[in-house]
Parts: sequence; C-alpha cells; structure tokens
Amino acid sequence: MTNKELADLIFPHVTKTIEDYEKMYPERNLPEGAVVSRFAPSPTGFVHMGSLRSAFIAKKVPQDTGGVFYLRIEDTDGARTVENGIQGIIDDLKNFEITIDEGVVSETEQKGAYGPYIQSQRKEIYETFAKYLIEQGLAYPCFCSPEEIEEIRTMQELNKERIGYYGSYAKCRFLTNEERAERIRRGDPYIIRLKSPGNFQNKVVLQDLVRGKIEFPENDLDIVIIKSDGLPLYHFAHLVDDHLMRTTHIIRGDEWISSTPVHLQLFQVFGFEPPKYAHLGTVMKVDENGTRRKLSKRKDPEAAVSYYHQQGIPVEAVKLYLMTIANTNFESWWDQNPTLGIDDFKFDFKKMSVSGSLFDLEKLLNISKSYISRMKATEVYDSLLLWAKEFDQEFASILEKYKDYSIAIFNIEREQKKPRKDYASFSSIKDCVWYMYDEYFTGDLEYQFGKIQDREEIRKILKLYLEKYYQESDDKDTWFQKVKQLSEELGYCSDMKEYKANPDQYPGSVADISTVIRVAVTTSAMTPDLYEILRLLGRERIEKRIELLETK
Ligand code: GLU
Repeated sequence: MTNKELADLIFPHVTKTIEDYEKMYPERNLPEGAVVSRFAPSPTGFVHMGSLRSAFIAKKVPQDTGGVFYLRIEDTDGARTVENGIQGIIDDLKNFEITIDEGVVSETEQKGAYGPYIQSQRKEIYETFAKYLIEQGLAYPCFCSPEEIEEIRTMQELNKERIGYYGSYAKCRFLTNEERAERIRRGDPYIIRLKSPGNFQNKVVLQDLVRGKIEFPENDLDIVIIKSDGLPLYHFAHLVDDHLMRTTHIIRGDEWISSTPVHLQLFQVFGFEPPKYAHLGTVMKVDENGTRRKLSKRKDPEAAVSYYHQQGIPVEAVKLYLMTIANTNFESWWDQNPTLGIDDFKFDFKKMSVSGSLFDLEKLLNISKSYISRMKATEVYDSLLLWAKEFDQEFASILEKYKDYSIAIFNIEREQKKPRKDYASFSSIKDCVWYMYDEYFTGDLEYQFGKIQDREEIRKILKLYLEKYYQESDDKDTWFQKVKQLSEELGYCSDMKEYKANPDQYPGSVADISTVIRVAVTTSAMTPDLYEILRLLGRERIEKRIELLETK
C-alpha cells in the first residue's frame, strides 16, 4: 500500500491541496519591512498582564512598520477553553485600546481575508497539511494507548533515558502501511504523529530577535500533530496558521522557547521559510521575601488586566508602563519628549531585557501620577466621572451636581510647568479631595493639627483671622500678607528665615498659623495650595467649618 493510498484512507474527504490554500491566502502585498504579527491566546476569558504585554508589542511592531496585527483564537485545547472565553479577551483588549487589523472581532464576527481566525474552524486546512505529510511518508497514524505510552515512559525512566516518543521507542513508526490500514479499517483509535527527521545529536540554531543566537539539539520526537478528536495540536496549528496567514514575526512569551526546535523542524519538512521569532522575557514580581517569581494571576490582583479598569488607572498610563518595561530606553525618551506619546516612539527588540521584566506596581502608579498630572482638569473630570459611574455612584452624583466646582478643584496646581502629582488613579481622587465637598465634610472628622495643638489658641487664631484678615476678594499676595499680619499680631514669626535662626523666641511661625487655617477647613495638614482651596470654598463654607470645629 502506498503512502498516498494510506493518506486517502485516513482523509478521504480532503480534496484540496496545500497549493490551493496558498493561492487562497497569497503573500501579502505590504511595503518592505512591514511586520505581520499576531496575538494568539486560548479562549480563557481574560488577558493576563504578561500576555497583555505580548499583545501590546505584537501590535506596536506592525504599527511602526506599516504591517498587520491580527487576533487568532487558539481553541484546539478543550482544557483551556471556557464559555464566553473569546468575549473576555476581546473586552480586555478593547479596554486597553489594542485594536486589530484582522481577526476575531466578537464571538460571532471576524474580519480579514486570511481567516477563519478561530482554529476550531480550520479543521480541514490542518487535515490537508497532515495528509500531505502522510503522502510524503513524513507522518503516520499512531495506535498506542495511553497505557502503552506510560509503559514507554516507565521504561525510559528505568533506563535513565530521555522521555518521549522517538527513535526505537516510537513503535508505530515501524508498522507497515498494510498494518496501519488494517487497524484503521478495524476501527482502532489513533492519532497522527510527525515522523521526525531530526537527530538529537545535531544542533539547530534559532536567531531570536530578543535573545540573539540560541542553540538547541534537533527535535527527534515524533510529536502529535492531529489528536484523536481530529483537531491539531498547538505546534502543528502554529505552522499551518502562521504560514497561511503570512505571519512574519512570532512575538510571544519565552515559555515557548523550548518548543521552537519543533516549530523550526515543521517549517523545514514543509519547505517553508520560518517566520522570525521574538521570545519576550517573563513578567516577574519581587515577592515580600525578596525573591523573584512569575507574576501570578492567583496571587497578584495586578496580574489581571481588569484590575486597572477597576482601580481607574488610565489605559494610557498602563501602556506607558508596559512600554517602559518593554524597552529600556523608553523612559528617558519620554522624559525628554513629554509632549509625545507611545505612537511616536519606535520599538526596538534589541532594547528588551532578556532576563525578563520586573513588574513594579509602585512604578506603574508613579507613571500614572505623571500621566494624570498632565491631563487637563476637564479631562480629569470626565474620566473620573466615567469611572465613578461604574464604581462609586454616590461620588458620581456629587461630581455631576458640582461640575464647575469640581473642575476648579482638579485645576489647583495643574496646567503649569510642574503640575502637582497626587492622583495615582481615579479611585484615589476622592481620598485627595473629599473635604472640598460638604456632603463628605460632616460627622466624625479627624483633624490633624500640627505644632499648634491648643484648642484655645486655635480658636483665637481662627476668630481673629475671620474677623479681621480674611477677605474673599483678596489676590494671592494680599492674602498671604494678611496671614503674616495675623501671625505678627499674635506674636508668631512672620519671616521664615528669621524664625529658623531664632526658633526659641517665638511660639511658632506663619507656617504654623497657615496650618491651623488649613486643618480647620480641610482636616488635613497636607493639601494643595491653601489660597486656592480657600478661594474655592468661599466665606460661607469657611465660616461654617470653623463653627463646626468649635463644637468638637
Ligand atoms: N496559544 C498560545 C498561547 O496560549 C500562543 C503561543 C504563540 O503565540 O505562539 O500562549
């Protein structure tokens, strides 16, 4: 029985050839140097921070080069598939504004001429490729039961040999086509394996775009290409899809490095040119006890990309952070070009850290602070309102009720050369500004007074301030002069230099007097510009707050 007859027996319904598919999915007509890359997750329902980083880079490179970025869903492994798992991924990508040129748009829609982009819908294509290999004598049906595979393993362990289905252990390699046909006709279950042409003693070289040259032993395992359910295993699907979708760059996590010898071999047996590979270092975290470990979706809430949405950390800030950990030169570039964004920066594989990136939430929050500090007050208002509508309805209605007032609050020390950086996320803004709203300035207030603690003294300072010095219409200089006069009248030092030189001669300074006023109207000794705060609060509120303090 010829290989061709065996192939026809296994795949009688497959009538197309590889050439037919190559014609259907021709080389892409793109400018020189354009990169075609993809994000290829299993439909697990969410995107982990590490995969988001891969997706982000897989999109950035085609964007920089005028290429194509597409989303392919790899659902041939039932164990990694969850219900509505595709939608979750699409939503996460959408939240991070990682848009696609081609691929899966929703559970039911796809776009692009190189689809279908869901692997389970490509069964016949994989079969065509597998049929070709059988015809060439480069693949064969394997009838080994799980028990037999286990036996081989035990034997290999006993003999201290490499584990796997290879060489003389690959029993079904040695069946004749007649024996194969007979067992198939008899209805014996089987899978299809590659007849690996590799020799473990030989070396194969991968020129990885991130890590440079890596040498591996050649693959000699007769890997499974088609499973018993008729669907391909990952390696084989990767070859078929990335060939026909005309992928130029495989950008993925470095957990796939050890599979590359298999992938290179598959391209070789088909005579296809392999794509370029870029294996991205693992995203890690430093544990409480100082050890580095992989960012874990079980232990680290920040590993789930939904966390950023809930916390109200701007998407752009997360992207800036991802770019910072992706390319070591990005941060200084951004410092030098504060008005430019990620789109203006050219990503470079050579500027990636090989050993992996350390995920540092503190740093991300700092970037977020810088980013929010550069937003306009109206933008802060709009984004905060959007966030609050979803996560803090009470605050949302307060923001809506006092729109202009709120924008004015967010404008304190903003839109200037060195804007104030105190909002790390939208969820943290309320903690910074609550005291500006009477709705929150009630009940059990905890006043954090500074040097001047004596209640009588505080009362005296505030009374005199309101009666004699506070004038709503004063400009900033006049206002400050008056706080100085108030200090002098009460025997406090109004000149900080003089006070620093002779601290013992005074009960305190103008700074301590300001603190009393500040704490009385906000409860906190740490606030943005006091003049601005008083101006926004206005006389009526200030008086009420001072009265309220009297009752405490
Ligand atoms: N489906 C693989 C995963 O879930 C994709 C690996 C690749 O990008 O080649 O990670």
